[in-house]
Amino acid sequence: MYHKVGPVLAGSHVAGHYVSEPAFRRQMNWLRALKFTSVDLAPYETAFLPKRPIAITFDDGYRNNLAFAAPAMKAAGMFGIVYLVSERLGATNDWDDGLEPLMAVSEVQEWIRDGNRIGCHSATHAHLPEVPEKQLLAEAIGAKDQLQELFGPNVKTFCYPYGQSNSTVKRAVQTAGFEAACGTGKGSNRADSDQFDLRRINVRADTWGPLFLLKLLRAYRNAA
Ligand SMILES: [Zn+2]
Repeated sequence: MYHKVGPVLAGSHVAGHYVSEPAFRRQMNWLRALKFTSVDLAPYETAFLPKRPIAITFDDGYRNNLAFAAPAMKAAGMFGIVYLVSERLGATNDWDDGLEPLMAVSEVQEWIRDGNRIGCHSATHAHLPEVPEKQLLAEAIGAKDQLQELFGPNVKTFCYPYGQSNSTVKRAVQTAGFEAACGTGKGSNRADSDQFDLRRINVRADTWGPLFLLKLLRAYRNAA
């Protein structure tokens, strides 16, 4: 799980969310050297897994993902999945520190043309367990419809804002037609994992080289 890739914006209070471009490039090269293969999280794809599958996910849809992460993934033969906030495309985030530009429609199209995938991160980045049922449906079904209208029918997976879900939220996400969803629980996933609360490995500014490799290989061993 990545958030922002590239230089830390002046005044940011969440510098830890940034992975520098050289560090990200190194991480992608390690994935390639260790013979990992990118996969999407949609079950049709995870049903036919390569030998060392890895889903490279980005929360929120920051423009710096397109600028810095997309070229590095392409160079390493990888692709990523960006989780978009459907009503905030082309805006800046109104969560965290509210400074970082989010991809606009044309930029998401470029991301997809580069071989990357998209998923849904709700309509407004709400705290889903706290919203009333009507809004919950808008955050799941409404957001899926909006993204599919813009980018085609392949919005099959969801990502809970702040990693927050409960049984009501999960049911709404399933009702909306999503096939899987990821949270922020740490680790790897197996065939019997909860497909609507997939675990991830958090990669942050302080995930220096050996720690990245340790997290990766520990998760891989646990999934095997
Ligand atoms: Zn988020």
